[in-house]
Amino acid sequence: MKFCQGPKCHMHKTKDRIKGTKGSKTYQTRRRSKFYYGKGNFCSTWCQDQWLTKYIEPALDHFGRTTVAKHLTQDNAWYKDYDWNSDYNNRQYIYVNGITKEQRPLTEEQFNDSNYTLNTGE
Ligand SMILES: [Zn+2]
Repeated sequence: MKFCQGPKCHMHKTKDRIKGTKGSKTYQTRRRSKFYYGKGNFCSTWCQDQWLTKYIEPALDHFGRTTVAKHLTQDNAWYKDYDWNSDYNNRQYIYVNGITKEQRPLTEEQFNDSNYTLNTGE
């Protein structure tokens, strides 16, 4: 079980947040085995947005701001795709370059491997 990381989760007054023993019930931060927002850290997009509003500036200062334009070139334009018309068992996976339109075959394993890439830059 883990807690929602929304800094104001407990301030959102819903029935499921009321916890505690009779006479000392309070609205509390949601606790679940699984959350579906923000990589499993937030109970809702509202809580995710509250976190973002509170921490976006120090987070950008910490991890680095984009200060110059990034460029999509043929070196980082590869994306994975498959033929959407075929059924799952006969699916053909391909790597497509969004700039040159070049296509290269891809195995299902490579398609599902999020670390596998032909891109050489960001
Ligand atoms: Zn929450």
